Amino acid sequence: MPVPETFNRLRIFETGNLDKLVIDSNSTLDSLGPHAINIKVSYAGINYIDTYFRSGLYPVSLPFNLGQEGSGTVVDVGSQVTRFKPGQSVAFYSNGSLSEYTQVEESKAVALDTKNVSEFDAATVLLQGLTAWTFLKEAHNVKKGDKVLVHAAAGGVGLILVQLAKYLGAIVIGTTSTAEKAQLAKANGADHVILYTEENVAERINEITNGEGIDGNFDGVGKDTFDLAFQVAARRGTIVSFGNASGAVPPFSILQLTPKNIKLLRPSVMNYIATAEELDRYSAELFDLIERGVLKIHRHGVYSFDIDSLKQAQADITSRATTGKLVVKVSD
Ligand code: NDP
Repeated sequence: MPVPETFNRLRIFETGNLDKLVIDSNSTLDSLGPHAINIKVSYAGINYIDTYFRSGLYPVSLPFNLGQEGSGTVVDVGSQVTRFKPGQSVAFYSNGSLSEYTQVEESKAVALDTKNVSEFDAATVLLQGLTAWTFLKEAHNVKKGDKVLVHAAAGGVGLILVQLAKYLGAIVIGTTSTAEKAQLAKANGADHVILYTEENVAERINEITNGEGIDGNFDGVGKDTFDLAFQVAARRGTIVSFGNASGAVPPFSILQLTPKNIKLLRPSVMNYIATAEELDRYSAELFDLIERGVLKIHRHGVYSFDIDSLKQAQADITSRATTGKLVVKVSD
């Protein structure tokens, strides 16, 4: 079926609160470039970054199409596309996945063998899974016995980091705001979970690590946990600061790194999967971890593709009340 002339897409025409989210029913796709593919979207993942674009924390040119990942069926392929053909199931990461149809560069899509990983699961796990896996391999290459700290350990990325860090042999310490979340993180492999709302995190880490500190700190919380990272780091420890759930980290002095020879990274997953080869390799590894049962997928909820549900999804992800992943069913 060809792409209809107009279709529904979630967009912002200006930044601000949830009321700036709009479903534009007159959306169209650009003409197909030689390396692009058109996709009928089945599922789209909700990510924290959607809220940064909507609020203006990450500036974008407007109007802006929301949604960073999804899955669906290829409808058309550009003249130079060699990796995909119409009718094929794919998962992809690209702006504009919260849309009935979207267009992506072929290097941002990966073929799905839906006998092993469904479109539903792929949209649930692609970006957060690749974030966790590439950061554990490249931002701080976790080795057996490493003491690893995961903030928001029951969150989307956090719950995947916990499982995969454990699989790599780390001693995994998580932090969560509630006992319920702590239980979930423990059930998924965390050796210790610190309830930061009730316990002194630095003291507990000191006890757990016998004063040695954290070798790899995976921190998507940002502003509220940044100073703590230096306090609890091991000598030669690595701080992977990768998000802004509590706000952006303010400027800091490079001399803070010196007392323990700390490495600090502020990575984006996009830079680890920038080529088709990188995306294919890391996605294959991620899907294999799912097929082998190493990585369990946790969905917080499945939302409908209507404006109230989409606003609710953004409200929920910033509410601290979610665990695992939020997914939108866009079309059958
Ligand atoms: P989560 O499901 O982890 O939700 C955020 C969690 O952060 C909350 O559930 C909460 O857990 C914790 N939190 C702590 N302080 C606050 C606060 N002030 N407001 C809201 N939440 C807070 O979200 P995601 O898994 O989608 O994303 C996690 C982080 O990873 C985000 O910062 C995101 O931007 C980042 N990210 C970065 C990528 C990159 O390439 N750099 C790629 C993907 C995600 P608790 O209640 O337990 O504290």
